[in-house]
Amino acid sequence: VSCIFCKIVAGDAPASFVYRDELVSAFMDLQPVTPGHLLVVPNAHGAYMSDIDEDTAAQIMRVGKRMNAAVRASGLHCDGVNFFVADGEAAMQEVFHVHLHVIPRFKGDQFGLRLPPGYPHRAARSELDANADRIRAQLDGEKAT
Ligand SMILES: [Zn+2]
Repeated sequence: VSCIFCKIVAGDAPASFVYRDELVSAFMDLQPVTPGHLLVVPNAHGAYMSDIDEDTAAQIMRVGKRMNAAVRASGLHCDGVNFFVADGEAAMQEVFHVHLHVIPRFKGDQFGLRLPPGYPHRAARSELDANADRIRAQLDGEKAT
């Protein structure tokens, strides 16, 4: 296996684990944005969100919520938490095994997301409705199959 997260889950690469169950594992990010930054990953390999089932996705968020509470209570500098999932290279995914970042935040930590030039601009209702139609059509299609 060449996937680093699969190796970690299998015990073939070192990691500092904080949690493990049948579906997911949580361990410290090797290159933390802030101290306490951890990852929640499915135990079974899936490169993208589309590759994992809904129960696994739900468990990732359930455990992420618990990690959030644990990090906040841990004594690490944490006044807030960001959850971040990069799904696809265009979305800044670098390791192609689904993972939820749980990132402790505090004032002055210098982390941030860069918004595109011209943001915010208010979209026309017709544009929002048209985009909602396109997405809703996919959900309807999903039900039919
Ligand atoms: Zn993997």
